[in-house]
Amino acid sequence: MNERDSEAISAALEAGGLSATACENDADVLVFNTCSVRETAERKAVGKIGIMKKLKKDRPDLIIGVAGCMAQRMKDELFAKLPHIDFVAGTGQIHKIPEIINGIIGKREKIMNVGETSEDEKELLDGFGGHLYGDGKISALVSVMRGCNRFCSYCIVPYVRGTENSRPQEIVLREIRNLADQGIKEIILLGQNIAAYGLDNSMLGRKKSPFAELLGKIEDIDGILRVRFTSPHPAYFSDDLINAVVSLPKVCKNVHLPMQSGSDNILKKMNRPYTSAEYLAIVENLRKGAPEMTFSTDVIVGFPGETEEDFLQTRDLMNKVAFDNAFIFKYSPREGTKAANFADDVPKTAKEERNQILLKDLALRAEKHNKAMLGSLVEVLVEGPSKRNSEKWCGRTGTNKVVIFEPDGKISTGDILELKISRATSMSLYA
Ligand code: SAH
Ligand code: SF4
Repeated sequence: MNERDSEAISAALEAGGLSATACENDADVLVFNTCSVRETAERKAVGKIGIMKKLKKDRPDLIIGVAGCMAQRMKDELFAKLPHIDFVAGTGQIHKIPEIINGIIGKREKIMNVGETSEDEKELLDGFGGHLYGDGKISALVSVMRGCNRFCSYCIVPYVRGTENSRPQEIVLREIRNLADQGIKEIILLGQNIAAYGLDNSMLGRKKSPFAELLGKIEDIDGILRVRFTSPHPAYFSDDLINAVVSLPKVCKNVHLPMQSGSDNILKKMNRPYTSAEYLAIVENLRKGAPEMTFSTDVIVGFPGETEEDFLQTRDLMNKVAFDNAFIFKYSPREGTKAANFADDVPKTAKEERNQILLKDLALRAEKHNKAMLGSLVEVLVEGPSKRNSEKWCGRTGTNKVVIFEPDGKISTGDILELKISRATSMSLYA
C-alpha cells in the first residue's frame, strides 16, 4: 500500500513538472514515505532522514518532506526530532504534496498537513493518485479501499489510516480499463481489509460479497490476464469469495491470508475473530476447488502472553497449511493500541528463537515444494530480464512462484509462456 502511495506521490510530482533522479544527492525534493506498523520501520526511517541533514546543510534549498503513517502518527513531533525537514504530510494528504512543495518554495516556511482529507470523494474517484508507466511495466497496483475498521489489538493502522472507505465499483473498473489500455497485464488489488470491500457504505446489506462481485467484473476486462489481491481478513473470506477465487480463471491461485497466530487464545487477545479451525477450513475449501492453490501469510511471534504451547500451535497450523511463503514479525508494542497496555512479556530472545524456527520450517518446506515441481510444465507471465543476471529472464506463475529461464530472443515482457522446470532451490525455479 505504501508502494502504491509512493507511486501516486511520484506521479503527482511528475505531473507538476518534476522528474525522478537516480540518486538522492541529485534531487531538489526528497519525500520519505513512511510506515508505522513496527517500531523498527520507524527507527529506520528516522535514521535515513537523519542522514539527509548533511545534504540539507550543503544545499539549503533542498526540500525534504516526510509522508505516510509515521507522519500521521508523530505530526509536529517530527520537526523537533528532525529539524532539517520542511514538511510533514499525513496519509490523507498525499495528493496535496505538490501544493505543499509550492508553498514552501514561495514562503520558505515549514508546513504540516495531517488532517483528514476534505476531498475524500475526489480521492476515492481518482484512484488515490495517478500511475507511472514505462520500462516494460506490466503490473499495476490498484487501491480499492482506504483505511481499516478492524482494530486488531496490536495494530496502529486504523489510527493512522482512518476508517474504511471503498471506492465505487464502476470507478475501480474504469481505472483498470485505463490501465489495460496502457499495456498493463496484471492487476494487484489493494486494501487493508480487502475482503470487506464495499461493506462500509451504500453496498452494505448486499447478499453477495461486493469484493467477489468486483473480481467477477474485472474478469471481463480485455487485456488483463491476471488479478491478485492483498490482504483479505479471514473473518470476511465468505463462501462466495472462495467460489470466485477458485472459479475465475484470471484470479491467481495464490492467496495471501494473514493468520497472525495458530493459537485460539492468542487470536482472541489479538481481536482476530476466527479460530485456527475456521482458518484451516478456508484454506481447505480453496484447495478443494483449486488443488494447485498456494498460500502465504503474516504471523506475529511473541505477542503478549504467548506461551511455548501457543507458539507450537502456530507452528502446527503453518505446517498444516503448508505455506509457500510467510512474513514473520516479532511483536512490537505500538503506543495507543489496546495491546500496548498488555505486558510485553515474551523475552526478546524467545521472540528471536520463535522467528528463526518458523523461518527454517518455511525454507525447508519451500525447497520441498519447489523440488516437487521438477519436470512439470508451468505457465508464467514474463516479467523481463532477471535483476541479478540480465542474460536470464524471469516470469511468475499464477501460484506466485518466480521462474528463471533463458530467453530465445523472441520473447517480450507481458508474454505468457509454458516452461518446463529443470532445477529448483528453496528460493527459485529454473526452466
Ligand atoms: N491489513 C493487513 C495487515 C497490515 S500490517 C491484514 O490485516 O492482513 C502487516 C502485518 O504487520 C500484519 O499482518 C501483522 O502481521 C504485522 N503487524 C502489525 N502490527 C504489528 C505489531 N505491532 N507488531 C508486529 N507485527 C505487526
Ligand atoms: Fe491492522 Fe487488523 Fe486492520 Fe490488518 S485488519 S490493518 S492487522 S487492524
